Amino acid sequence: MSKVVVLTGAGGVLCSTLAKALAEQGHKIAVLDLKLEAAEQVAQDIKAAGGTAIGVVANVLEKASLEEAKTKVNEVLGPVDILVNGAGGNHPLGTTSNPFLEEADLENTTEGFKTFFDLDSKGIEFVFNLNFIGTLLPTQVFAKDMIGKKGCSVLNISSMNAYTPLTKIPAYSGAKAAVSNFTQWLAVHFSKVGIRVNALAPGFFLTEQNRTLLTNSDGSLTQRGQQIIDQTPMSRYGVPEDLISSTLYLCDEASSFVTGIVIPIDGGFSAYSGV
Ligand code: NAD
Repeated sequence: MSKVVVLTGAGGVLCSTLAKALAEQGHKIAVLDLKLEAAEQVAQDIKAAGGTAIGVVANVLEKASLEEAKTKVNEVLGPVDILVNGAGGNHPLGTTSNPFLEEADLENTTEGFKTFFDLDSKGIEFVFNLNFIGTLLPTQVFAKDMIGKKGCSVLNISSMNAYTPLTKIPAYSGAKAAVSNFTQWLAVHFSKVGIRVNALAPGFFLTEQNRTLLTNSDGSLTQRGQQIIDQTPMSRYGVPEDLISSTLYLCDEASSFVTGIVIPIDGGFSAYSGV
């Protein structure tokens, strides 16, 4: 059955792939992104492939912007059945320069060098807001359409960081842990009104967000990039297509008794102790 699916951050690498895969199933797709041009391009690609889609500008941190987007989605596609909360990411101001604090770091005066003590609360706030508030607000706005209907669900995007924090990125790790926790909370809260809430926890996918952390300018892996591959039993980064089958499953009636779960899609990263 054709459903109306809203995806936030769907101008980006991972969720544009999910938007296209959901369109191929015959669903009507609202591609939401802060960058209108990116959203419109993805909608255009879907239409060119024979699907139904609209690109809509929306800031997941502003309720008024989301309400405006919802009015447009409702007018053109109808009431929303499925929400994929894909907008998210990290920020350099919430990131330390080194994985471990050494005494000598406190004397380091190199421009841009950051220890834990230099982390800027504005940067931390930005990352918490984008990932957590940016999941909560779209759910408040779009899940209202789902009440009293059958086959509705919310899919959040968590991360490997939610299980065990990665070095250097305390804000992103904490924010994604909040997304996983919220997924369970909301699944319980919405259980009596028939809205299922689940999440994906992608491992490591080489995208624009992390390209400079994981690869050098010549395309070779940074030390951190190599460390990730060494810690991933399947010895590769994920590709966006790796997320498709779990997304289709969690958004479909096939998973009608599944709610409150977070599926790791990580090539075995979270199962491996490193020894
Ligand atoms: P991406 O940067 O390619 O896409 C993110 C999109 O979100 C961008 O198009 C951006 O314009 C949009 N966006 C940013 N701020 C926004 C806002 N305030 N309102 C609306 N849209 C906004 O990133 P991606 O790799 O495709 O990541 C998608 C999701 O997957 C994110 O939640 C990310 O944290 C998560 N994730 C990514 C990885 C990875 O390895 N790439 C791993 C685990 C989880």
